[in-house]
Amino acid sequence: MTAVDLPARFPASVHADRLRRAAREAAARGIDALLVTPTADYRYLLGYAAPGLERLTCLVLRADGDPALVLPRLEEPLARHELGALGEDLAIVPWDETDDPFRLVAGLLGGAAGRVAVSDQMWASSVLRLRALLGSVELVVASPAMSALRRVKSAEEVERLRLAAHAADEAMDAIRSGPLAGRAEREVSARIRNLLLDAGHETADFAIVGSGPNSASPHHEPGDRVIAEGDAVVLDIGGMRAGYGSDTTRTVFVGEPAEEFRRLYEVLARAQLAAVAAVAPGVPAQEVDRAARRIITEAGFGDAFIHRTGHGIGLETHEVPYIVEGNAEPLRAGEAFSIEPGIYLAGRWGARIEDIVVCGADGADVLNRSSRELISVG
Ligand code: ZN
Ligand code: ZN
Ligand code: ZN
Repeated sequence: MTAVDLPARFPASVHADRLRRAAREAAARGIDALLVTPTADYRYLLGYAAPGLERLTCLVLRADGDPALVLPRLEEPLARHELGALGEDLAIVPWDETDDPFRLVAGLLGGAAGRVAVSDQMWASSVLRLRALLGSVELVVASPAMSALRRVKSAEEVERLRLAAHAADEAMDAIRSGPLAGRAEREVSARIRNLLLDAGHETADFAIVGSGPNSASPHHEPGDRVIAEGDAVVLDIGGMRAGYGSDTTRTVFVGEPAEEFRRLYEVLARAQLAAVAAVAPGVPAQEVDRAARRIITEAGFGDAFIHRTGHGIGLETHEVPYIVEGNAEPLRAGEAFSIEPGIYLAGRWGARIEDIVVCGADGADVLNRSSRELISVG
């Protein structure tokens, strides 16, 4: 199947199965029901992005019963259209403008609920309203149950992540073919967003261009600075393709790289490779961070590596597992995450190399394939 043929949607059977697994996961955790408002969890379970507005849309997934979808009546046609065959597996409960949707949700929970999990990104106004209505019910966040399902990707999800990575690589290679000198960061960033869309992304979500001293600021907001000879330039780009995220960073040098920068980059490249090589099922996530940090620290740049080594990626750009000191959870086959060490010398320059990898049975499957060499651009 080529990229062009790839359907953005999974068949209804996949979502029906996810709904059943989510109910089982909730039950196993002593949760009587999951309340899921429009978020990545909602997309994961139902396969479409509902508008997350002040009017309540909420999937009520009881651990012991059939799922119900409470939504404003005006959203019902969209939901039925988007849900397709999955709509038959759900009770769709529309509410009118004069109804109280929170009472509808409370009614669907029944009197027996003792513990209810709500989406981490449910609006505070909704949580507080539910809190007031649900009396003695204990409210907890849904992320432990939902991430247990979402963190391990199916083969079809990995294929989507791979296509997203390749599309980002294409954009990266195009921008690295230069020239960059004489162009403002903002202009290069806008060009990258177009390249991401041209390569098949539905959305271009970020295009960090940090040049010269700005390359030492990991989340630099591209501005009016004009890129010049002698600059290191950090390019960190990504978006969504077929519903799944891309996120890759390459660092280039404008003109012939300074000897000092070459040394820094060589250390960084070795650290990034070491972290990739540390990936295997059963390895604590923090060991991958340590593998990169050890090399950077031994080279004397320990204080200049000011962030974790990586983050999970899937329907969201940042999700579990986090590759960070203190996370002793073992990696599992099928988990997808970034490996992105960086070295940042304030006021001078910085560099980062970022790939998305999937933990495979024998080690890391590196999804990005654009060159990690230090490229000199015009
Ligand atoms: Zn970042
Ligand atoms: Zn990134
Ligand atoms: Zn990242």
